[in-house]
Amino acid sequence: MIRIGDVLVSRGEGGVYGERMLAGARVWDPYRSKLAALYYVGTGVELLPGMRVLYLGAANGTTVSHVADYTEVVYSVEFAPHPMQDLLEVARRRRNIVPIMADACRPELYAPLVEAVDLLYQDVAQPDQADIAIRNCAFLKEGGTLILMLKTRSVDVRKAPGLVFQDTIASLETAGFVITEQVWLVPYHQDHAAIICTKPGAGHNAGRGRDE
Ligand code: SAM
Repeated sequence: MIRIGDVLVSRGEGGVYGERMLAGARVWDPYRSKLAALYYVGTGVELLPGMRVLYLGAANGTTVSHVADYTEVVYSVEFAPHPMQDLLEVARRRRNIVPIMADACRPELYAPLVEAVDLLYQDVAQPDQADIAIRNCAFLKEGGTLILMLKTRSVDVRKAPGLVFQDTIASLETAGFVITEQVWLVPYHQDHAAIICTKPGAGHNAGRGRDE
């Protein structure tokens, strides 16, 4: 990942959502983006130029635009019409964002539009977040990486966040994933955790090991 001093940035055309620029690069704010927060509180996944990404819960394209600065293509799924309008505008200004208006619970509807991906990123704040991720992992290459941004209160507001976290990890492990990192996103995002896991399979390493 690219850092200027200790500030996470991405290199691309600015002015997407009023983000700050630093030495010609776009500052990627951990308070606005859970993925940026992950790079501050944990290790995360190195985003690489050859990577194909399926992004669930694209919203208005804030984080999508940074991911697109690093990677080859970002298939960006969003089901709400209002953020989709903003996302379309962001996609118009970048050559590698494919906006898809669809329900992430029904991956069969966008299967014809999406190729096999190296990284599945999910940020949908639904009660069945683990199930949605598992269903969409059909698109993930063997050895590919899933990053699940878990909003514990969306799963069950009456259950202790730590328990929701553990249950979600158990569901992913039962589905065959190997957990490589699990971290809360405080102080940037309360009640949110990131779970990173690998889909088992042979020798795939597109997401690892770039020297900047
Ligand atoms: N990832 C965004 C970012 O960092 O800029 C923020 C995502 S916001 C927390 C969650 C988004 O997921 C909302 O825009 C919501 O409309 C969308 N969403 C929720 N459930 C969805 C579903 N089943 N299919 C597609 N999008 C969904």
